[in-house]
Amino acid sequence: MTGIEAVLTVDLGAIAANWRQLAAAGPVAGVVKADGYGLGTAPVGRALLAAGCRHFFVAHLSEGVALRAAIGAGPMIAVLNGFPPGADDGAGLVPVLNGLPDVAAWTAAARAAERALPAILHVDTGMARLGLDAGELERVAEDHGLLAGLDLRYVMTHLACADAPEHPLNADQARRFAAACARLPPAPRSFANSSGLFLGPDFASDLGRPGCALYGINPTPGRPNPMRQAVGLEAPILQVREIAAGTPVGYGASWTAPRPSRIATVAAGYADGYLRALSGRATGILAGRPVPLVGRVSMDLITFDVTDVPPPAPGDRIGLIGPGLTPDDLATAAGTIGYEILTSLGARYRREYR
Ligand code: PLP
Repeated sequence: MTGIEAVLTVDLGAIAANWRQLAAAGPVAGVVKADGYGLGTAPVGRALLAAGCRHFFVAHLSEGVALRAAIGAGPMIAVLNGFPPGADDGAGLVPVLNGLPDVAAWTAAARAAERALPAILHVDTGMARLGLDAGELERVAEDHGLLAGLDLRYVMTHLACADAPEHPLNADQARRFAAACARLPPAPRSFANSSGLFLGPDFASDLGRPGCALYGINPTPGRPNPMRQAVGLEAPILQVREIAAGTPVGYGASWTAPRPSRIATVAAGYADGYLRALSGRATGILAGRPVPLVGRVSMDLITFDVTDVPPPAPGDRIGLIGPGLTPDDLATAAGTIGYEILTSLGARYRREYR
């Protein structure tokens, strides 16, 4: 049996080029949380390192440990969700301190270690998710001694609405961040995510934190995408069958052939991140021609109407993501965002890095 594997192609050259493009405008880190947005912590981390990236952000401690093993000692690896002192097993990770309890734990650890410990202080300026709230900021601003023993690598905040450039919260957050930094001990600042990097000079900082743009997701939906696409996905046709008009296809019999039709059954499904919400809403590319997805997305299978294209054979591949069919396109069809498409991709594809 040939051609039975679906293949996910990750263009590390495109990811490196996207990082360099952003870095040309100002200092930026690489955000590689969630397994490098689903594309692989180690290969993505190494590609960014080779491109010149020296600051990385992950979400979880375990991601930081895995990244350290992949890229070696030296570059900063910060853990956005934080971690308790000592929990990184010597991986040399930098905690993001998201509230006063975190600050207290790390200043105590610094006292015990009798040396300054590196940390990033996160200030909430309008997301109400993580970061020092207004009361906590006030306390630290009134008493810098609360930060004693911390080597503040950055003060950071995170934008809530940067992908909507006109949203008034963007300017509010820039104002609040500047005001907060003015009241804290002097430290470099880390501000914009991918879309924030395109908002203008008020959002520049000592370290931008792009994630999605590195992976080719459009940082500002509705505007032309300045980033290079980094992902391709092809899945093999398992069977081709001719069905009569009136034949239902797939679970729930949600689609019925309106005419005699040729159906290609393809080896990918919602367990592979081809979201069930795409049922009846997506297209694939077969030999350069669009073919409509019909019927429901199952766990491991999807079905395309290939009646109007030259008949394919089992083993031929249908493009699910590729030139002219971006993760953002799939996201729009599924009513979600490109981030969710990438981070849902799953582990069953054969991965080819180039
Ligand atoms: N900074 C923080 C705190 C984040 O949570 C994220 C991701 O959600 C990023 C930066 C990167 O954001 P984006 O992928 O939109 O560039």
